[in-house]
Amino acid sequence: MIELADEGVVLRTYPSGEADRVVVLWTRTSGKVRLLARGVRRPQSRMGGALEPLAHVRVDAVRSRGALFVTRHVAHLARFEHLRTDYDRILAGLSVIEAIDAIPVDDLVDNELYETLLRVLVTLDDPTYYPTLVAPAFFARLLVHDGVAPEVNECARCASPGPLVAFHAPSGGALCRDCRTGRVITPEALGLAQRMLGGDLAGVLREARPAGSGEITAVFTEALEEHLGRRLKSARTALEAGTTRTVP
Ligand SMILES: [Zn+2]
Repeated sequence: MIELADEGVVLRTYPSGEADRVVVLWTRTSGKVRLLARGVRRPQSRMGGALEPLAHVRVDAVRSRGALFVTRHVAHLARFEHLRTDYDRILAGLSVIEAIDAIPVDDLVDNELYETLLRVLVTLDDPTYYPTLVAPAFFARLLVHDGVAPEVNECARCASPGPLVAFHAPSGGALCRDCRTGRVITPEALGLAQRMLGGDLAGVLREARPAGSGEITAVFTEALEEHLGRRLKSARTALEAGTTRTVP
């Protein structure tokens, strides 16, 4: 008897026993579940490829011991072929699912956030969008979703209209000259943050590497880390890759 029939996105996997793998799947209606996939580390396994991180799949499973399910059937809902061939897109995708995985709620059922995640994956798979700011935009979206939207239009401390010259995650956003502390922020980066949070995200994502991208990536990564109370490893890797890369 099938006890779990749901769709989800693979967040991460880890080896178990000789040839098995445990798959952490964020499902649409059952929250985060752990699935034992038997034999998937054998080369002839047909299920293995469907259970890589970032895969969007439909699964049927039965309950095993405790909270673990045993996978009976897996089917791809989307393969994201373009996403999978580009290192920057993969890293952006991994940063996004790491953030989802870091939300400290195990039975997280949130259809709105789930739809947002699917839109992120579709965007990363679309060659007309650049991956540069996809993860930081998602981080900002997650902060908005949790009711702690970063303030980028006025001083987060004194509500002065500016000029805004710094960003300080613990204060909740950008700061004026009198309140300044934290990270210095350029007018270009502030303008970019205002576009991303103000309804022009699609326009921003069509630009390869708009001025202020590195700063905004750092700012929104730090703000989400502050909110979640933990470091985001993939986002940090992306940040370091971004600061050492020269764009033609
Ligand atoms: Zn101020």
